[in-house]
Amino acid sequence: MKESRIHNFNAGPAALPLSVLEEIRESFLNFSGSGMSITEISHRSKWFDDVINDAIARTKRLLKLDEKFHVLFLQGGASMQFCMIPMNFLKDGESADYVNTGTWSAKAIKEVQIQGKSANVVASSEDRNFAYIPKNIPFNSNAAYAHITSNNTIKGTQWADFPDTKGVPLISDMSSDIMCRAFDAEPFGLIYAGAQKNIGPSGVCMVIIREDMLERVPDSLPSMLKYSTFSSKNSMYNTPPCFGVYAIQLVLKWVEETVGGLEKMEAINRKKADTLYSFMDSSDFYRGTADADSRSLMNITFRLPSEDLEKAFVQKALENDLGGLKGHRSVGGCRASVYNATGMEAIETLVDFMKTFEKENG
Ligand SMILES: *Cc1c(COP(=O)(O)O)cnc(C)c1O
Repeated sequence: MKESRIHNFNAGPAALPLSVLEEIRESFLNFSGSGMSITEISHRSKWFDDVINDAIARTKRLLKLDEKFHVLFLQGGASMQFCMIPMNFLKDGESADYVNTGTWSAKAIKEVQIQGKSANVVASSEDRNFAYIPKNIPFNSNAAYAHITSNNTIKGTQWADFPDTKGVPLISDMSSDIMCRAFDAEPFGLIYAGAQKNIGPSGVCMVIIREDMLERVPDSLPSMLKYSTFSSKNSMYNTPPCFGVYAIQLVLKWVEETVGGLEKMEAINRKKADTLYSFMDSSDFYRGTADADSRSLMNITFRLPSEDLEKAFVQKALENDLGGLKGHRSVGGCRASVYNATGMEAIETLVDFMKTFEKENG
C-alpha cells in the first residue's frame, strides 16, 4: 500500500495536475457557494452554465479558434466518434480518406466499413509495425474528409506536422495529445479527444467542429448521433457529463494560468521527451520503438533486451513509486506516458531509475 502519490505514467486514465485534484477536493462538498457538490446541481443552473462556458472559452483561447468553431462535450468516448464521423459526414457514393497509423486508426476505419461506407486507406505504416508516420500521402481531392490519428498512444508515434489535404477537411483523433502543443486549427473540420489522456477524467469526449461541417449533418440521423443536436444546445440537449466538464475546465485553467499557455506547455513537453529519448539513445540497454522523426511527445515506447527484463523493470519501477510503465497489452514492451500533468521531476526520477536498473541488470 502506498502512503502517498506516486509518479504516474499511466496511458489513460492518466495523471491530472495535483493542484486540480486539490481544487476539486476543496470545493467538492460546497461548489461555488451553492451548498451542493458539482455532481448534485442542475445542468440547467447558472453554476453549471458558468463551468461549461468557461471550459469552451478556454479551449478557444488556448487553440486560437475563431467563431467558426464550436466546442462540444459528448459522451461515448473517442470510440463513439469513430462511428459518428462517417454517419454525419459520409454520404452514399462518397469516400473518405483514412491514414492507418495503428490500433486506434484501424478501429476508426472499421466503423466506416461496418456502416457499408467507403474508407480509402491512403497510407499505412503497418509494414513496419506502425513505427513511423507516413510521408507524401496521396490524399484524394474529392474525399468527403481526411482522417488521421495525431498521436498513436499505443505505438508511440505522433505527427510532427499536419498534412496538406488541399482544402479537404482534416479530421483528427487527438485523444492523447490535445493541448500538448500549439497548432493551426484552420484546416480541421473536426477534432475529437477522449478527455482521459490529457485533459480530464473519462466519460467526456471533447469535439471541436467547424461550422461548415454542421451543414452536412443529415436530418435522418437519430438525435443523439447528430453533431447539430449538441451544437444547437451548447452540449446540453440532454444531461451532459457535468463532473467531467468541470474537471476539464480546471485542467484548462491550469494550462492557461499556471503553465502560461500552449507554447509554454509545448516547451515543457519537448524538454521532457528530449530528456527521455536522449537518455535511451545513449544506452544499449533501452531501445526506442518509434522512428526518430515520428516519436511522440506523449507516449514514449521502448524495449529492454528481453521480456523477462521488461517484466522485472515494470515491477521494480512500481516498488520505486514509478507507476504505469507497462506497454499496451497488444504490443508488450514498456511505455512511459508523459502527458501534460506529468512534470519534469517525474522524468528525472524515471531516468535515474532507468540508469540504476541498467547498471544492476545490463
Ligand atoms: C484512448 C484512445 C481512444 C479510445 O478512447 P475512448 O474514450 O476509450 O473511446 C481513441 N483514440 C486514441 C488515440 C486514444 O488514445
